[in-house]
Amino acid sequence: MTTLDDLPIRDDLRGRTPYGAPQLDVPVRLNTNENSYPVPEPVVEAIGKALAAELRDLNRYPDRDAVALRADLAGYLGHGLTVDQVWAANGSNEVQQQLLQAFGGPGRSALGFVPAYSMHPLLALGTCTRWVPGRRGADFGLTAEEAVAQVREHRPDVVFLCSPNNPTGTALDPAVVTAVLDVAPGMVVVDEAYAEFARPGTVSALAVLPGHPRLVVTRTMSKAFGFAGGRLGYLAADPAVVQAVQLVRLPYHLSALTQAAARAALAHRDALLGTVAAIKEQRDRIVAELRARGLRAADSDANFVLFEVGGDQSAAWRTLLDAGVLVRDVGLPGWLRVTAGTPAETDAFLTAMDKLTGTQAPRSRGEQ
Ligand SMILES: *Cc1c(COP(=O)(O)O)cnc(C)c1O
Repeated sequence: MTTLDDLPIRDDLRGRTPYGAPQLDVPVRLNTNENSYPVPEPVVEAIGKALAAELRDLNRYPDRDAVALRADLAGYLGHGLTVDQVWAANGSNEVQQQLLQAFGGPGRSALGFVPAYSMHPLLALGTCTRWVPGRRGADFGLTAEEAVAQVREHRPDVVFLCSPNNPTGTALDPAVVTAVLDVAPGMVVVDEAYAEFARPGTVSALAVLPGHPRLVVTRTMSKAFGFAGGRLGYLAADPAVVQAVQLVRLPYHLSALTQAAARAALAHRDALLGTVAAIKEQRDRIVAELRARGLRAADSDANFVLFEVGGDQSAAWRTLLDAGVLVRDVGLPGWLRVTAGTPAETDAFLTAMDKLTGTQAPRSRGEQ
């Protein structure tokens, strides 16, 4: 049988494993930060109609520049953004890949502050961009001083900031973004995949865009919109950045069906984003319940919580899985990540946690 090693594959890909968060058929799936709520029926109908309207014209290529969709996305983002400042692709992963194709590449480097989104180094690998794993401070925080020192030291062509950060969950002070912009010799990409879940008072890097043509903010419909299967990510930046990614994108990369479905979803944004408040409630409940059990949990502005299990996190991951709850082992010794979903999913997770820790849930006053 032919194996990968028998093929004349690129040397830098030898021995690598593909991105692979387990897709297991278990009752409670809380490992990839999807929105647990299905698409509401009126939105299903609207997307169905929009798709049907495209079918007869599938003999033609779609709008290669997805202008109508980008205009809709600019309208959603606000901040006075216009269509020439927004770009869309099949998930923000593809947007970030295009950014690395345009601004990274052979002989160039990208810096991220780990632990952060595991796809950033993989996208760097795929685009032959040298990956520089930067460090975070105590409790996974990142101060302007810490970030600036590392940007000065490595002089990367691309800096990835992730806010709210995955897997830690905490949003970044925009002062860190502006401090990095002041010293970065290249592009600064702020991955805001979870922006809609941020706690009140959190400021988006979108507010920093005016006057900063090397800043890119990436967003996605995969999380808050509950549209992960639709594959739609986007960016906001200076119009020159949009022109840059158009040099490397594949022609007609966004299918007519994707564009139509995303536009219909955006038109029903109130219904789709209607689950965000409920998810934030479960997120805060998970943090509070874990802390009440004496476990450390990071402050979260996202739809997930990073929590400490102590000791061997992969054994803890297995124990939770055996209890029917799939969470994420992000390779951080002693810590696991759980997605906030429905109240019933939180119940199942907390019950599994009690099995793991061998403790009982703190009882309410009445029971004592
Ligand atoms: C989930 C996630 C994304 C989403 O990627 P898509 O390709 O848009 O589905 C992007 N960035 C981070 C940090 C994420 O956690």
